[in-house]
Amino acid sequence: MIKNIFTLFFCFNLVVLASCQPPEQPTNISLSGESYDPPNSTDTRSKPILFQKRKTFQVNGIYVSNEFYGGRIDNVQADNRKKNSLIITIAPENFPINHSAWYAFRIWSDEEKDVSIKLIYKEGRHRYIPKISSDGENWKTISSQYFRHNERKETAELQLRVSPNSLWISAQELMTSKEVFAWADTLQQMEYVTGDTVGYSTLNKAIRVLKIAETEQKNIVIVLSRQHPPEVTGQFAAQYFVETILDSSDLARRFRKKFQVIAFPLINPDGADQGHWRHNVGGVDLNRDWHKFRQPETKNVSEYLKKELLNDSTRVWYGFDFHSTGSDILYPISNDYIPDESSITRLWIDNMNLRLPNKWEEEPFDISSPIAKNWIYRTFGAEAITYEIGDETPRDFVKLKSKIAAEEMMKILLIRVNR
Ligand SMILES: [Zn+2]
Repeated sequence: MIKNIFTLFFCFNLVVLASCQPPEQPTNISLSGESYDPPNSTDTRSKPILFQKRKTFQVNGIYVSNEFYGGRIDNVQADNRKKNSLIITIAPENFPINHSAWYAFRIWSDEEKDVSIKLIYKEGRHRYIPKISSDGENWKTISSQYFRHNERKETAELQLRVSPNSLWISAQELMTSKEVFAWADTLQQMEYVTGDTVGYSTLNKAIRVLKIAETEQKNIVIVLSRQHPPEVTGQFAAQYFVETILDSSDLARRFRKKFQVIAFPLINPDGADQGHWRHNVGGVDLNRDWHKFRQPETKNVSEYLKKELLNDSTRVWYGFDFHSTGSDILYPISNDYIPDESSITRLWIDNMNLRLPNKWEEEPFDISSPIAKNWIYRTFGAEAITYEIGDETPRDFVKLKSKIAAEEMMKILLIRVNR
C-alpha cells in the first residue's frame, strides 16, 4: 500500500494587483479602468497537493517506474483475473481538476512477454492517447489496435510487448524542464539571444526567460508557454514559433531589426517535472492567477514584465500564450474591445487562413477572466491571444502552423511599425 504524502503550502505572498494603466494606449483599444475585479475569479491561494511517491514497482517479474522527470503513476498492482495483467492507478495532484489525466511510466520485465495494462483514473478522465518510446526521446503514438478507453473515459487499456529493455509510456512526449532548458540553452548560443532567470518556483526550479534583441528599439512581442503541464503540443508550437523568428529568412532578419521578443518557455517547471495534470505545486491553475498573483510563477513573470516594459520608451505590440486542447483553436479578445478594422489579430488570423488547408477555429472572449492574455491587454494595452493546438495534431503540422503564424505576424507588425 502506498502511503500518499500530503503537504500543505501556505502562500504568504502579498497580493499584487496588476496595474491597469498602460503606458500609452494604441488607438482603438478601450481599457476598462482601475476598478478591475474579475467576476469569475477563482481562489488561487495555495492548496494541499498529492506528491506521488517516486519508486519502481515490481509485480510478477514486471517492473514499472515513475522515477524520472514527468513520470506519474500512483500505484501498480496485479490484475489477478488475468495472467500478465496490471492495474495502474493514476491520480491528480489535487482536485477538482480538469479531465486531463497525465500518466508516464517506464516498464520492463525479466522475460519478454505480452502484458495488458488497465489505467484507472482517479478524480478525472482520459484525455491522452499513449505515446511510446524506447529511449525516452523519440516517440510514436500507440496503434489504435492496442489501446482503448471505456465509454465514460474513466479507464483505459493497453497491450504492450515488454522485455528487459525499457519502454517509456507517456500521455504525451516528455517535455520536462530538462528538455525545455536544453532547447533554451541552444538558443542562447546565438549572439542576440540572452537568457535570464526571473525567479524560482516553489520547488526551486528556475523560471527562465529568453530575450531576442537584435535591435535597441523597444517594440516588444511577449511569448508565454506551458502554464499547464500536460500541454506539450503547445510547448512545441511555442518553440517552433520562436525558432521561426530566429531563422535566417529575409523576413525574420527584417523583423529582428525592429522588434524584440521576450519568451518564457516553461512557466510551470514544477508541474511539468512532477507530471501534474493542470496545476503547479501550490495546487493552482496558474492561468487563473493573473490578477492576485499568489503563486511564485505568475508573480515572478508578471513583475519582470512590468519592470522591463512599463516605461515611456517601450511599446508592447502583441502577446501570445501557448496551450493545448482537443483541437486547434484560437481564443482572441472579442471585437467589443478591439474593432476588426484596426485589429492585428483579425488580419493575422485571416492571413494565416489563406495559407492553411483548414481555417482556424476561433472563439472570442471578453476580458473579464484573470488569465495571462487579459493581463497583457490590461497592463500594456496590447492585443493578445490564447493559441491552442490540438493534443493529437500531427507534430509536423504543429510546426508548419507555427511557422505560418510567426511569418504572418512578422509581416503585419513590420507594416504597422513603419506607419
Ligand atoms: Zn492550457
